[in-house]
Amino acid sequence: MEITQQAQLAEEMCAEAFKAFEATARHNGEKVLQSFIDNRVCEHHLKGSNGYGYGDDGRDTLDRVYAQVLGAEAALVRHNFINGTHAITVALFGVLRTGDKLLSVTGKPYDTLCGVINGDSRGGGSLREYGIDYAQVDLLPDSKPDFAAIQRECTDCKAVFVQRSRGYSARKALTVAQIGEIVTAVRQINPAAVIIVDNCYGEFCETLEPTSVGVDLIVGSLIKNPGGGIAETGGYIAGKSDLVEQCACRLTAPGIGSEAGCSLNQNRAMYLGLFYAPEIVANALKTSAFASALFTLMGYTCSPGHDEYRSDLIAAISLNNADGVCAFCEGIQAGSPIDSFITPQPWAMPGYDNDVIMAAGTFTAGASIELSADAPIRDPYTVYLQGGLTFPSGRLGVMSAAKKLLKIDRKDTAF
Ligand SMILES: *Cc1c(COP(=O)(O)O)cnc(C)c1O
Repeated sequence: MEITQQAQLAEEMCAEAFKAFEATARHNGEKVLQSFIDNRVCEHHLKGSNGYGYGDDGRDTLDRVYAQVLGAEAALVRHNFINGTHAITVALFGVLRTGDKLLSVTGKPYDTLCGVINGDSRGGGSLREYGIDYAQVDLLPDSKPDFAAIQRECTDCKAVFVQRSRGYSARKALTVAQIGEIVTAVRQINPAAVIIVDNCYGEFCETLEPTSVGVDLIVGSLIKNPGGGIAETGGYIAGKSDLVEQCACRLTAPGIGSEAGCSLNQNRAMYLGLFYAPEIVANALKTSAFASALFTLMGYTCSPGHDEYRSDLIAAISLNNADGVCAFCEGIQAGSPIDSFITPQPWAMPGYDNDVIMAAGTFTAGASIELSADAPIRDPYTVYLQGGLTFPSGRLGVMSAAKKLLKIDRKDTAF
């Protein structure tokens, strides 16, 4: 069958999932609009500040808008966070002190965080170098939290770390409800533990964020979901006010915290991006479900399946070998609005153990709320697809990847 016919079929398979994404976007869009109204966002908030940035009303109001949307007491939304890893690093160093223990309850954290936690290069300044202990409870083989082990291990920890999204791994994303169960299990044993969620790729996939189910801090990147494809850089930390301020003191300086730091000309993009974000996330979720349907039809294993519940943007597609991974990424790049003529190559990206190939023909460099694919060149040769600012363009990009893959992999005689 022709790819165009297969794509038509794949889209039909997703009809119910698409309706659910649209309903979530409507709910979250209403929440965002209400927060703009309640916090009296006005024209001058969209203008930035320079120098010390004292009294930057646009910045402070954006913090309040985010806090309300995320169901948090406070938020720190700053373009100065260089990426998600940096924002999470600031949260960890903001909360933890020498002698404390950090417990990850979702197994090995995202690649770039392993160096932050455990890096042994002397002088790098990892948590370990500062005398902060680390322990880990793996997820069960079905990707569910291991509540018995969590309750055994969390007795003496200062902070509990939860990764919502699957990241570059075979596990599935946790739902906000599952994160709520983790909170309950930890609180029974260690009510004082600070529960921190790496919320990257999760924002607006559901109608609640982890801060609404008792989590103390959530952290994410603005060139993923909440930036709506408009924010040019940045990240956020949201949660309990005292903890958010501790993090602000780590980002800037003790005694200064969130009260300084100019917003340059970034406020308008951050407000506008948040305003768009629920709808953009729905488009990315549609692209993700569509890709799972299409590549399942083509005989590849996809996770989650097209009709499985999604609480992050990522579709993991297993492609059998390195050639398949490269062809897929070439196809995504070739079907992108920017740099479509470039051939992505695997490279030794900072913070990752294996060579990584990335396709990102994006308006904002590396923004993975835009259609993009990443794959570490390692067994089982799984490519991680995410993003798509509009479903029609995401659909075309995914079809471009399917076409490239067919050229090198003719094992499936149906094509
Ligand atoms: C993207 C991501 C991060 C942070 O990555 P950056 O590239 O530094 O923004 C952390 N955790 C997860 C699960 C992610 O998806």
